[in-house]
Amino acid sequence: MSKDKVFASFEEIPLEDGGDKKPTLANLATIALDKISTDEDGFFMMIEESHIDKCSHINDLDGALSHVKAYDNTIKAVVEYAKALGNTVVIVTADHETGGLQYNGESDSELNDGMYTRGEHSSANVPYFVFGDINMDFPKVIDNTQIAWLCKSIISK
Ligand SMILES: [Zn+2]
Repeated sequence: MSKDKVFASFEEIPLEDGGDKKPTLANLATIALDKISTDEDGFFMMIEESHIDKCSHINDLDGALSHVKAYDNTIKAVVEYAKALGNTVVIVTADHETGGLQYNGESDSELNDGMYTRGEHSSANVPYFVFGDINMDFPKVIDNTQIAWLCKSIISK
C-alpha cells in the first residue's frame, strides 16, 4: 500500500469545469484514481454525490438534476477509466431515495418541485448498476445493506 497520502478539501465543487483551482467531482475522481490505481494490492474507492440528497430534502428539482448530471459525468469518467485499467468493477447506487419524487412522464419543461411528495428519505427502491468485465449473476433486487456483500463477492472473484 502506498504511504503517500493525499487529503483535499474544497469549500465548493463546481458542477461544470472550473479549471485547475476548482475541479469537478469527475476531475477529483480521476485524480484519485491516478493515485490509488497504481497500488499493486488493488484498490477500493467510494465516491458520493451528496447534493442530490441535500437538494431533494428541500424539494429543489433543478438543483438535484444539476447534481445528477455532474454525478453522471463522474460515472462516465470512472467507467471509462475502469475500462482502460481493466480488471476493475464499478458499482453505482444510492443509499436511499429522498423526496418521494413522482415522475409521470413529464416533459423537460413540465418538471417542477411539486413532483416531490415529501422532504425526507423514503423507503422506495433505488437502482444499482454494475459495470465491468465480471462473470457473475447479480440479483435484480437486493437490500442496500447487501452492497458490502456484493463488493466482497466481486473482490473474491
Ligand atoms: Zn438525506
